[in-house]
Amino acid sequence: MSAQILDGKAIAADLRKTIQAEVSAITASGQRPPGLAVILVGDNPASQVYVRNKQKACEEVGFLSELIRLEADTAQDELLTLIDELNEREEIDGILVQLPLPEQIDEETVIERILPTKDVDGFHPYNVGRLVLRMPLLRPCTPKGVMTMLERTGMELAGKDAVIIGQSNIVGRPMALELLMARCTITVCHSRTKNLTDKIRGADIVVAAVGRPEFVQGDWIKPGAIVIDVGINRKDDGKLCGDVDFASASEVAGWITPVPGGVGPMTIATLLENTLQAAILHNSDT
Ligand code: NAP
Repeated sequence: MSAQILDGKAIAADLRKTIQAEVSAITASGQRPPGLAVILVGDNPASQVYVRNKQKACEEVGFLSELIRLEADTAQDELLTLIDELNEREEIDGILVQLPLPEQIDEETVIERILPTKDVDGFHPYNVGRLVLRMPLLRPCTPKGVMTMLERTGMELAGKDAVIIGQSNIVGRPMALELLMARCTITVCHSRTKNLTDKIRGADIVVAAVGRPEFVQGDWIKPGAIVIDVGINRKDDGKLCGDVDFASASEVAGWITPVPGGVGPMTIATLLENTLQAAILHNSDT
């Protein structure tokens, strides 16, 4: 193996330590700690794990964290009323509605109901629009976490050719905007992209957000490229794997993220970072 590992677990631990120190300073100065409300609708097993991890992370850094569980058959209006209440509450800086939502609830309507300054997932059209315009406020957690990892390589990003595989609203698109803001030249690929492997072979930075186990092969990677694997897939044997074939890609890449222990921990650490940012914003308003 020739690639250096971009250790998301270690970088996330560093980030959490910095956040914890900032929270201690905030509370020592007599201010309240940052507060995050997480809403979980229904009992999707994966969502329950994500929510538990987010709550644990909040408690570790000293945030106030509140989990609100709603039944799977909750009506959309009930959820919107709850969001209105949380928007009003002083001690809540961030509101996160765990996706996916049951089919009777429209995700966009729910996301748009969250105050943009409390939208710590960074999914509200206001926050996405600010990212488009290069004036980011609260930025989607996974792409922002990837940018933190890329900074840790010490590589100059400006002028690099970046290929993003996947164009979802939560990963691929905001990832493209982040890399464009860093002055990379971006190519966004999806299921209708022609000559995908040729595009990947030309890339200095590859971000895989496809949702297909070990999809990207080592012989598609340009020697020395930075490979960021966002995918989280479960194989038939129950083990987790990414969207990149780690064994072959790590022979060729310059840097690579593992799965697990790569982008996943960064997403949660960045959620904490966003909640702290929201709390600082709210405190400066009062
Ligand atoms: P998604 O909404 O399903 O999007 C997948 C994207 O991949 C789509 O844009 C799709 O193209 C594209 N695609 C599918 N097959 C392709 C192919 N053969 N060639 C090229 N592109 C193809 O998924 P997502 O929500 O972005 O998530 C992607 C992966 O990241 C999943 O494994 C998910 O679990 C993981 N994830 C991880 C984190 C983390 O914190 N690590 C956070 C979020 C998601 P079309 O648009 O044309 O359909």
